[in-house]
Amino acid sequence: MEILKHSRRIKELLDLKEDLVILIGDSGRQYIEQHKKDNKPQNGAYTYWNNTIAIIDEKLVGTLAHEMRHAYQYENKERYGYKFSRKTQVIVNWREVVKYIASAKERDANLFALKYLIKNTKNYLHILKYIFKCLDGYFSLCVVKCLKL
Ligand SMILES: [Zn+2]
Repeated sequence: MEILKHSRRIKELLDLKEDLVILIGDSGRQYIEQHKKDNKPQNGAYTYWNNTIAIIDEKLVGTLAHEMRHAYQYENKERYGYKFSRKTQVIVNWREVVKYIASAKERDANLFALKYLIKNTKNYLHILKYIFKCLDGYFSLCVVKCLKL
């Protein structure tokens, strides 16, 4: 299934009311470069103030599901108590980066993306890659906590 079909299916699944702008490939890569606040490599982004999602590669269905879940969190922020604010500062402290990775919003988005991949794609390599990406984030968190960095 091509990525735009996935985006329509996910929009339906999440019952998203607002229309999203979805940038994929080069335009997505450019958008992320313009908006990111740290040097961490990033596969996708969601900016709530203009309801835009950017994905660097059309194969990244898990990332699409993850970013669309953020749009859902934003539409339902009162119900779940999620906070959205524009990052005005560059994140320099990597402890802050790790705290972000393990936040409730991120865990929710990762879980949704993983469930979506398992149910809607039979691409086990993508599923494994996505799991590995999540574990990598949580592993970093453990290292920070254990070493009290
Ligand atoms: Zn996220």
